[in-house]
Amino acid sequence: MDAADLGADLLEVLITAEQLQARVTELAAQIDADYADRELLLVGVLKGAVMVMADLARAMHLQVSMDWMAISSYGSGTTSSGVVRILKDLDVDISGKHVLVVEDIVDSGLTLSYLVNNLQSRDPASVQVCVLLRKHAAAAMPVHVAYTGFEIADKFVIGYGLDYAERYRNLPFIGTLAPAAYQGNRSDVQSRLVGVEAEHRARGFLGAAYVLVRASAVYRRYFASRTREEGIPRMGLLGRTALLPDGGGTRGSAGGTGPACRGR
Ligand code: 5GP
Repeated sequence: MDAADLGADLLEVLITAEQLQARVTELAAQIDADYADRELLLVGVLKGAVMVMADLARAMHLQVSMDWMAISSYGSGTTSSGVVRILKDLDVDISGKHVLVVEDIVDSGLTLSYLVNNLQSRDPASVQVCVLLRKHAAAAMPVHVAYTGFEIADKFVIGYGLDYAERYRNLPFIGTLAPAAYQGNRSDVQSRLVGVEAEHRARGFLGAAYVLVRASAVYRRYFASRTREEGIPRMGLLGRTALLPDGGGTRGSAGGTGPACRGR
């Protein structure tokens, strides 16, 4: 499949097939050098990482073994809430092994951070991450990525393993779709954009609320101790903040309500 097959559905090519191949070959050389005297297990995340995993493994000179995981995130439309379910687990035991997770794209980082924590709990010798694409805005959950192919803008991209509604995975390049391509499913993409904005707003609001609650808790403690020491009566607005939880924050999440197929 190529650009001509998409016709007007293709908006722009962001990364050409040649650029992808050149960068994947560079990453392979880097990984070869870093794991020169170690046995490495590549763990691909289905389905998006199929292309990068296949090209990366073939460009490497080291003996590697390969395994796959399939996961689904719970979220609204195409946004991730970070609540992840393992649909297909590894076939092998990774204890004592060096593991390199190969992922298509990191957006909020929530999925990858869950995955890395999960793998780390299995007692491997090491767990590192290689992602083909990383969005600039990515960082709801900081996750250490040892190997990154390309940094991209916060756009919904397709191709080279990445899909929209299970389509476009077999494009050799990374691109974006014209609005017409989303017809019939347009609300899905719009809800994603709206969801991202709402998520940012919710995080900002919850962050501010948390600071206020903490500040008032500290003030109340100080006030209570002074009250005890100096017999000052409690009054006014702050007296009522006793209704607010004393400690323990709320992590902002605009996660959706049910399982959503993100077309991994
Ligand atoms: P995160 O948990 O980092 O927000 O989500 C990562 C997952 O979301 C990726 O593995 C991929 O399945 C999906 N994803 C994030 N951004 C895009 C995108 O621009 N295009 C496609 N097709 N999938 C994406």
